[in-house]
Amino acid sequence: MALRFSLLVLSPLLLLCCCHGIKAHKDGEDPTTIKTMQDFSGYPIQEPHFPNSLSLLSVDTLSLQKQIDELSTFSDTPAPSVTRILYSEKDVLARSFIKNLMGFAGLSVREDAVGNIFGRWDGYEPELAAVSTGSHIDAIPYSGKYDGVVGVLGAIEAINVLQRSGFKPKRSLEVIMFTSEEPTRFGISCLGSRLMAGSEALEKALKKTVDSKNISFLDAARSAGYAKGEEDLSSVFLKKGIYSAFVELHIEQGPILEEEGISIGIVTAIAAPASIKVDFEGNGGHAGAVLMPNRNDAGLAAAELALAVEKHVLDSESIDTVGTVGILELHPGAINSIPSKSHLEIDTRDIDEDRRNTVIEKIHHSALAIAQKRDVKLSEFKIVNQDPPALSHDSIIKAMEASSQELNLAHKLMISRAYHDSLFMARISPMGMIFIPCYKGYSHKPEEFSSNEDIANGVKVLALTLAKLSLY
Ligand SMILES: [Zn+2]
Repeated sequence: MALRFSLLVLSPLLLLCCCHGIKAHKDGEDPTTIKTMQDFSGYPIQEPHFPNSLSLLSVDTLSLQKQIDELSTFSDTPAPSVTRILYSEKDVLARSFIKNLMGFAGLSVREDAVGNIFGRWDGYEPELAAVSTGSHIDAIPYSGKYDGVVGVLGAIEAINVLQRSGFKPKRSLEVIMFTSEEPTRFGISCLGSRLMAGSEALEKALKKTVDSKNISFLDAARSAGYAKGEEDLSSVFLKKGIYSAFVELHIEQGPILEEEGISIGIVTAIAAPASIKVDFEGNGGHAGAVLMPNRNDAGLAAAELALAVEKHVLDSESIDTVGTVGILELHPGAINSIPSKSHLEIDTRDIDEDRRNTVIEKIHHSALAIAQKRDVKLSEFKIVNQDPPALSHDSIIKAMEASSQELNLAHKLMISRAYHDSLFMARISPMGMIFIPCYKGYSHKPEEFSSNEDIANGVKVLALTLAKLSLY
């Protein structure tokens, strides 16, 4: 203990976050000194007393950018676009790249049955719940190279930053690369974190889930080297409390930080998403022969429901309520044929769960009423997911704010309207998110971009936040 403690005292990073008079704890000395050390970890917020040490939090931006560029070459579409689909050959190569980098950072690497990857730096009190950070590296077709990636490569670099500064964590620090945040292949978003957080419904559903080519989830996982000899994926579940904190670094995917010239967004809440699938069925018929009074047009029922979604969302009178009909398909899809079937997929979100649920109820009532009025059958109204919102934990918000202040970085509190693995990590751990600006708020397209400086700022705030939470 004495050795560990003096290492801590020598740590330049701690000099950065501490206030007056650190006393070395020698054998026989009052062990409550350790509490004082914990107080130095940023609670309450202290001004840095050793401003020269700020330069010690040095991010290797050159290497980090090289890694981001190299990772983007593991893609099924040509640069500058990135396409990296779960368990594809390119995804498997990208996973090896991440594991190697974790290894170079001295982390001990493990993977679970669905390929969530964990890299751990043991703290000097390894029996305490660890502090974790991470994001995803899968990329939807023709997207960019920063979404998720900044939160994985940036997390590994944050560990490197802390190691270079001489810092020794008390709680272990763990970097997580989550499997399949994007729903591209199996239609399930945040698959890895959702399962990690203990979703039994998902664990069951995955046994029967297939992709568009009818390849089962388990076969796909096995082809990538996971779920070997396992039908039961409940081994992926993590116990609540396994982490004392989880922090995700991510590009904003919106324009606010760039427009306002602010370096760091501190996320206070993640909006609650829900998605609904709706099918209407009518009689169809010839577009010339069936006269208007005799029609029951499934396409018009869908169109009317799409407008009803907009109305119910606007009726909430909150700017935080949003609704989108992103998919609207008509069958048979011929110009001279009255649609006999229609299919809609509706996404609605809010930071207020009750308000969002009211919108869902109203959409359901409208679907029933429209079906009756137009004499079509509402053959399906399925709520695919109806997740609660997640609030960031106060202690993590404070640590992120203190870190931004100590690094002299302008920051603002904000809501994440997109959802992330953090939404599900919040079910098993106190959670927080750090946003950095991205060019025009672009995401999910090749123009997605964050500058070296913005990424470095995010990594520094993440590193300092992890340091503080590790000592807390
Ligand atoms: Zn993302």
